Amino acid sequence: MNGYLYDPHTHTAETSKCGHLPAAEVVDRYVKNGFTGLVVTDHLHPEYLSRIDTMHNWDAVMDHYLSGYHASKKRGDEVGFDVILGAEFRFPENDNDYLVYGIDEQWLRSHPYACCMSAQEFYDKFHNEILIIHAHPFREGSAPVQETAVHGAEIINGNPRHDNHNDKALALCRRHPEYFRTAGSDTHQAGDEARAGLILPRRVQDSYAYKAIIESRDYHLWSPTFQSFVDADEEIRAEEAAN
Ligand SMILES: [Zn+2]
Ligand SMILES: [Zn+2]
Repeated sequence: MNGYLYDPHTHTAETSKCGHLPAAEVVDRYVKNGFTGLVVTDHLHPEYLSRIDTMHNWDAVMDHYLSGYHASKKRGDEVGFDVILGAEFRFPENDNDYLVYGIDEQWLRSHPYACCMSAQEFYDKFHNEILIIHAHPFREGSAPVQETAVHGAEIINGNPRHDNHNDKALALCRRHPEYFRTAGSDTHQAGDEARAGLILPRRVQDSYAYKAIIESRDYHLWSPTFQSFVDADEEIRAEEAAN
C-alpha cells in the first residue's frame, strides 16, 4: 500500500454512550492494525445533551464531549499516531447521522447547540467552512436522505451490527458525481476496528488537513471486508479521469 491508512469514523467510551472501548484502547488497536491515524467522531446530538447534567453550560458540555478526543490524542501523542478531531452530528428531525470535519475545539465551543437546528439549516450555514459527510445514509431505520445537505457519503460503513445497505449509498454517490465518497469503520466495540478506512497520500495532523485532502480527492478507499465497494470507487475514479 502506497500511503497512510486513516479511519475517519470512530467512537470513544468516554464520550459516546454507545462506545464500549476507552479511547486509548481504540488507538492501540489501530496501531496494531497498521493504521497511521484516526478521526474521533463522537456523537453530538440533542439526546446526548439531555444526558449531561450541565447541558445549559455549553463549555461544560464541551469539556465532557471532548474528553474522549483528549484521551485519544494523549495516547496517540505517546505512540506517534495521528488523532484528529471530528464529530458525528444528529439533528432533532430524525436519526440520520452526519460526520463533520474541518473543525477544532474552538469551533465546537463557539457554535453552541448547532445540533439543534435541521440538517439543511446546518449545511446552509456551515457548508463553506466545514466538510459534511452523510454517515451510513441507508442504515436500517434511516429517514430519507437529504441530498442537498451533505458534501458526500460513506459508501462503506464497516459496522458489523447494522444493515448499512452500502450498495444504496454507492448508488446515491453515482447519482451525485460531486459527492466525496468515503469509508469508515464506525468503531464502537472490540472487533469493529480497522474494517474500513482511507489511504491518504501524506500524514495529516488536524481536521483541516484531513478536510483538504478529501476535497482534493487525492485519497483511496480501503476495506478488505468490502473490497467490491473499493473496486467500484476506483472504477468511478477511472471513468471520471477518462471524461
Ligand atoms: Zn454510536
Ligand atoms: Zn458513528
